[in-house]
Amino acid sequence: MTKAKTSPAKTRPSFTGGCLCGSVRFEINASFDDFHLCHCQQCQQTTGTAHAANLMTGPTALRWLQGEDVVRRYDVPGRTISNAFCQSCGAALPFVSVSGARTIVPAGSLDKTPPIPPRRHIFWNERADWYANGDTLPTDHNFGADG
Ligand SMILES: [Zn+2]
Ligand SMILES: [Zn+2]
Repeated sequence: MTKAKTSPAKTRPSFTGGCLCGSVRFEINASFDDFHLCHCQQCQQTTGTAHAANLMTGPTALRWLQGEDVVRRYDVPGRTISNAFCQSCGAALPFVSVSGARTIVPAGSLDKTPPIPPRRHIFWNERADWYANGDTLPTDHNFGADG
């Protein structure tokens, strides 16, 4: 009788995502170790809204499945903040940080709900004046009555 291997096959977590127009697809082969809502002024500009929602993982986790050639990147001079996006549709995409230490993955670029919830608001002192911190606004399932 052959002894069965006791250690189960190593399965690395895998998450997929892509851009709005479908040109770019990617895979993340690692678990996420943090999830920030970043309120810095640069993230307000790159996202067009109150904050970025970025998951963090290791530097070698990102693999492009298609469309790597249409991914553009902008590194903000003087700050360790970058923005990667599809040149066709502008959707936010993952990138490796300037330091090379981490991969930053915009939560909305993933196909499924991220496996961990947001843990912190960062750059809170730069938050937009209009940002309402809390679920106090009325909700609509589409554009709403005025849409
Ligand atoms: Zn696109
Ligand atoms: Zn930011």
